[in-house]
Amino acid sequence: MLIGVPKEIKNHEYRVGLTPAAVKEFVSHGHQVVVQQNAGAAIGFFDDQYEAAGASISNTAEKIFDTADMIVKVKEPQPNECEMLSKGQTLYTYLHLAPDPVQTELLVKSGATCIAYETVTDHTGGLPLLAPMSEVAGRMSVQAGAHYLEKAHGGSGTLLGGVPGVTPGKVLVIGGGVVGTNAAKMALGMGADVTILDRSLPRLRYLDDVFGGQLKTVFSTVDAIEHYSSKADLVVGAVLIPGAAAPKLLTREHIKNMKEGSVLVDVAIDQGGCFETSKATTHQDPVYVVDGVVHYCVANMPGGVARTSTMALNNATLPFGLALANKGPKDAMLADPHLLNGLNVHEGQVTYKAVVDALGQQL
Ligand code: NAD
Repeated sequence: MLIGVPKEIKNHEYRVGLTPAAVKEFVSHGHQVVVQQNAGAAIGFFDDQYEAAGASISNTAEKIFDTADMIVKVKEPQPNECEMLSKGQTLYTYLHLAPDPVQTELLVKSGATCIAYETVTDHTGGLPLLAPMSEVAGRMSVQAGAHYLEKAHGGSGTLLGGVPGVTPGKVLVIGGGVVGTNAAKMALGMGADVTILDRSLPRLRYLDDVFGGQLKTVFSTVDAIEHYSSKADLVVGAVLIPGAAAPKLLTREHIKNMKEGSVLVDVAIDQGGCFETSKATTHQDPVYVVDGVVHYCVANMPGGVARTSTMALNNATLPFGLALANKGPKDAMLADPHLLNGLNVHEGQVTYKAVVDALGQQL
């Protein structure tokens, strides 16, 4: 199979569909790979590394879309990319179609087979191609929070780890899933005093087992949120209600009662945010202040560490990508119901129920 890797064209997107190491895997399985010139150069994956791994380099995206059997990307295709796709071709990338009727219609029109990373499942019911980005965002959330707690960045001037003789900063993590667990791990690693809230008792039991007495686990109630947020230096919002907008767990009133110069990092902003005062921000302009509290609400946090994110994403996408290439998309999906769950559009039809439910009227 010929696999094509175009350069990402979405604004400030530096990730790339395949690393040179992933290219080498495809090549070692007998496939050919063509990578667009400078597709990974911004994050240190240079054309000569791709060539050494066995890829050829193409100077235009058009040539890649014209010839490849499977296109591997990171972000959803932009309109001009959708127009270059054709029947018989497979697109393997993040799509997020439910809120995007324009992209959905263009992919339907293309006739291509479109597999969305975000809906591929695993045997635990998890989303294995979303998890690496949640790990990245969770770990970044504490790094960002610590940065904005510095006085010069608008914060209270608190060092999360404290020092001998000075108590550490208090971190509250709301939601103990993938993001929350990774945030807690980083905050504990810095020496902070960390409390995590969740509505799921099995999850709280798991966190207690893993972190022992280091981490305080608390059942998530309005009372707990009110109490712990008023004492926190940093609050990380990490809740998810699958298929729904994030609940506004921290109200404007709670935020008014927080300490001046404390920091909120709303990782759930891509689902609308879990703090009442949250609005999406960008890596170029990541923070704003409400009632003396610094808000960091970057909707695509993993894009900020594009090199790590690309490698983490490739680790998760590679096994499915190889199955698609080795068996052919149809046989690979028939052999693996979890990969089949990734199929969102096929030969002019939307094939994923949640997208049909969300967009039915508009298609
Ligand atoms: P997850 O499903 O692993 O975890 C979510 C947790 O929230 C679950 O443990 C659930 O029990 C808990 N929860 C639900 N309602 C709650 C409540 N009322 N109080 C406390 N906990 C509650 O999800 P995840 O992968 O950790 O993702 C968390 C959020 O981060 C999602 O909204 C996801 O879209 C977002 N995310 C954002 C970025 C970004 O760049 N901003 C990147 C990755 C993930």
